[in-house]
Amino acid sequence: MSGWAAPRTRFSKTSFNAKHDWSQYPTTSYTCPSCHANSELALRDLDKYAHSRAVLDEREDLAQLFQVLPEVMRSWGNSILPMWCAGCASPVLILYDATESHILGRCYWLSWVVEAAGVQGATQSGSNSGGAA
Ligand SMILES: [Zn+2]
Repeated sequence: MSGWAAPRTRFSKTSFNAKHDWSQYPTTSYTCPSCHANSELALRDLDKYAHSRAVLDEREDLAQLFQVLPEVMRSWGNSILPMWCAGCASPVLILYDATESHILGRCYWLSWVVEAAGVQGATQSGSNSGGAA
């Protein structure tokens, strides 16, 4: 059951900039909507895929997953980072914008999350996870 979500509903931190963040090497934590496992994402991961959406050309399965995102939203972000949930190994695509600012240095802004394990519009019978917000 695939779907998409706003980053703030999945990640503990959704924007980075070099000036304020780089010295601390912060990570952001992704919470899987399906298995509730946490996966850590580091700045070097965002560095690695900045200004590239090539993963859509390289991986047909991920390109198909990307189609889940409504068309008008697919251009939100000049970079796409693929990751796999640490708990259930479901693929996740993170759309983000990588920019350079004279004041802030490199900046990353997460724009959308596309998930193979997304639960949008789906209800699981028999599993009440308690909804800790
Ligand atoms: Zn998972």
